[in-house]
Amino acid sequence: MSDPVYHLPQERKLVTSLPGPSSRKIEARRDAVVAKGVSSSAPFYVDKADGGVIVDADGNSIIDLGAGIAVTSVGASAPRVVENVQKAVANFTHSSFATTPYEGYVAVCEQLAELTPGSFAKKTVLVNSGAEAVENAVKVARHYTGRDAVAVAENAFHGRTNLTMAMTSKAMPYKTGFGPFAPEIYHFPASYPFQEPTPLTGEQAAQRAIDYLETRVGADHLACLVHEPIQGEGGFIVPEPGYLPALQAWCRAHGIVFVIDEIQSGFCRSGKWFASEYEGLEPDVITTAKALGGGLPIAACTGRADIMDSAQAGGLGGTYGGNPISCAASLGAIATMKEWDLPNRAQAIETEIRAKLGDLVNDPASCVGELRGHGAMMALEFVAPGTRTPDAAKAKQVVSDLLSEGVLMLTCGINGNCVRFLPSLVIPIPLLDEALDLLVKAIKA
Ligand SMILES: *Cc1c(COP(=O)(O)O)cnc(C)c1O
Repeated sequence: MSDPVYHLPQERKLVTSLPGPSSRKIEARRDAVVAKGVSSSAPFYVDKADGGVIVDADGNSIIDLGAGIAVTSVGASAPRVVENVQKAVANFTHSSFATTPYEGYVAVCEQLAELTPGSFAKKTVLVNSGAEAVENAVKVARHYTGRDAVAVAENAFHGRTNLTMAMTSKAMPYKTGFGPFAPEIYHFPASYPFQEPTPLTGEQAAQRAIDYLETRVGADHLACLVHEPIQGEGGFIVPEPGYLPALQAWCRAHGIVFVIDEIQSGFCRSGKWFASEYEGLEPDVITTAKALGGGLPIAACTGRADIMDSAQAGGLGGTYGGNPISCAASLGAIATMKEWDLPNRAQAIETEIRAKLGDLVNDPASCVGELRGHGAMMALEFVAPGTRTPDAAKAKQVVSDLLSEGVLMLTCGINGNCVRFLPSLVIPIPLLDEALDLLVKAIKA
């Protein structure tokens, strides 16, 4: 074990207001050529990033609590990732594993077999994006079971391709105007402890989901049930304990492939290697992406060998899936997670966040309804004081106040009323503290 090293000063330093003149110039060029449907949370343009900071085109150093949407957990320029990529890119940029294979692909699959939960034999297909990993989980589950139907949780987010849009709950901005969607997708009521009209145990919430699926779909028709262990875009919703294990047991009893989507929560983010470990889950299939590549595009669908092997040769994969540069980056990122003990650092981040923000939540007149999550995957849910009525305007105000101070945070939530922490796991704690103090100020404003 060793401590992270940084090559950029880990500091918040604004030399212009945001966005500065250089960012404004790029923004004007963007307006002319980049599709409006592609949006950015930040108004500034990135020049460099490392540890817990982004340095923009004007030289402003901003505290980054977004990590490129939970991707740069090891930092955006971690030494082992950079070295591995530089070496790999000088050897060969691409050969397509589908035609001419290479060792890096196999090595990433070995790491996934070893690190993901479940002590059974596992196999993996590597792809380019999280959505593609989820698509492959559905493909193998359908092939293996010979069934069509897919069960997904309310408030889920699984991606932006046609199939994964159908599996995602939030219409705006993800689905509106983009239908028709893939058939045979069933959204069941999920555990959302804070917004439950009457409190349910995990087992009761699972039974509600099971009753829903049995009456409307029938267990015999379900190929798979797909669930995030902590719902990400939906609001960092941690289900009631016992809920996911009960769903897993029901899936086992009925031959339904139990798929856990760890694309956002996986690879140390939650304070464990995988958030599934909090409930002792052993998913049949697990999807990963985001932090897996240390910033380069790569995603994986890993599962029980018999399930993964059921698809015919040539049925899985793609031109770029498991690109050699991405594999090299991924091996560097995983080595970094081990060397710098990132699960432990994620837990330290949670401790710090709870210590600094706990008081806001305990005040009954507070607009902070709940602080929840695990590790470095925490969120605040904003409500009208004393109620559970979502207050998206407050979440927006907080994020915008913070941005003007040089701290980048992202919103989330099915109602857009949550503010989430997704810092790099290597953010120095004093830098995180500085951001938390500014956050408290913005909330009280
Ligand atoms: C981000 C995300 C996806 C989609 O990943 P992309 O790489 O954007 O396609 C799927 N599932 C979860 C849980 C995610 O957070």
